[in-house]
Amino acid sequence: MLHPPCGIRNDEQTKMKKENSERLFEKAKKYFPGGVNSPVRAFKSVGGTPVFIKRGKGSRIWDADDNEYIDFCCSWGPLILGHANNNVANAVKSAVENGSSFGAPTELENNLAELILANNPFIEKIRFVSSGTEAVMSAIRLARGFTKRNKILKFEGCYHGHTDSLLVKAGSGLVTFGNTSSAGVPDSFVNETIVVPLNNKDAVTEAFAKFKNEIACVIIEPIPANNGLLLQDKTYLEFLRTICTENKTLLLFDEVISGFRIGFTGAAGYYNIKPDIITYGKIIGGGLPVGAYSASAEIMSHISPEGNVYQAGTLSGNPVAMAAGIAQLTECLKPNFYSDLEKKTKLFLENIKSQKNNCKLFSIGSVFWLTFTDKEKIQCAENIDANSMQHFRKLYHALLENGIYLGPSGYEVGFVSQAHSNDDLLKAAKILTTCLNEN
Ligand SMILES: *Cc1c(COP(=O)(O)O)cnc(C)c1O
Repeated sequence: MLHPPCGIRNDEQTKMKKENSERLFEKAKKYFPGGVNSPVRAFKSVGGTPVFIKRGKGSRIWDADDNEYIDFCCSWGPLILGHANNNVANAVKSAVENGSSFGAPTELENNLAELILANNPFIEKIRFVSSGTEAVMSAIRLARGFTKRNKILKFEGCYHGHTDSLLVKAGSGLVTFGNTSSAGVPDSFVNETIVVPLNNKDAVTEAFAKFKNEIACVIIEPIPANNGLLLQDKTYLEFLRTICTENKTLLLFDEVISGFRIGFTGAAGYYNIKPDIITYGKIIGGGLPVGAYSASAEIMSHISPEGNVYQAGTLSGNPVAMAAGIAQLTECLKPNFYSDLEKKTKLFLENIKSQKNNCKLFSIGSVFWLTFTDKEKIQCAENIDANSMQHFRKLYHALLENGIYLGPSGYEVGFVSQAHSNDDLLKAAKILTTCLNEN
């Protein structure tokens, strides 16, 4: 274990206190499966007790034992302005004072939609839902309803939430139907899902040949960031655009993580590729539960009540969540917001100086992934070495001890927010460097 002043905590405290988190976790295990309400929070992949968070402000979070951390998880992406941003907090407060839900339309929905649509040339209409999973689930139904086809094609290594037909992993072979990756998903569902590896044109070509006129949509994270950061070549994404158009298949960009993160127009804008449907989540709600799916007015006209693809939600377009989204996206639209964020991220990553040459940092915009590999590039899931995760596990706990909080899995990416100061980032880079070289 390292001793401060390497870490961000004060000198007397040489060992992190954990009693309160441990006590809370014991109690939580009585209430929730595995003690959590979303599996990765349970620390299974890094081991140990999850830290229970009490409070966050800016780039920092404090746990139940008052340990302070510089946070690079940022709620898995939504908090692009950092924790408890004043504008977001004030917007939420004034919205909730006026009533938290009506089940009737409010002007706030128009305002968030306007903010998004007026600044995004790739979409014309949008529908708000309450999570990324719901956005993707609805978008898939829309693609099937629009094309009157049943099959969908997804990529191994892309995550799209916990919808039945997307909880699949590749079988053996280039083009396979998915095997369920969760109990409780009927084979009949996954038999409609074709799974192929990322960064592989032949697999996609073969799938289209095999299932001619059957594929409703190709769904991809254009910036795959849920299983490492598997950056694709622009030419590959362009190839997907072309083959989808040729086959009258819809191209669905799942931008739940990349939307509003890699620039305001997400990956579609970054690569300048127009998908047919785009899903959003995470950043769009300013830290409150919002998801969305969007497309051309023509495609969206198939959604009820205009069209016959049914989708609804009691809390959809919730005014408090809309207010948070408006406040956050308003900040994102300010000049140089994204270029400043990218500059900061570069400064941070450049100052992490591992002496181990198998430690690699992959990044795009304000997203980064630290991993251990001899490869110079990783573009598909099968190139991630599961054994290398033991190095991450060790590093993870050293970082925690020294006041750096990352998402508790080596397959997860990290995020820099606007609230991370250059000072925070240089401090964090120094701690990372020390921990990397001593572990
Ligand atoms: C996070 C994520 C989802 C799921 O969103 P939830 O809000 O967790 O349901 C879906 N797709 C992508 C690309 C994501 O990053």
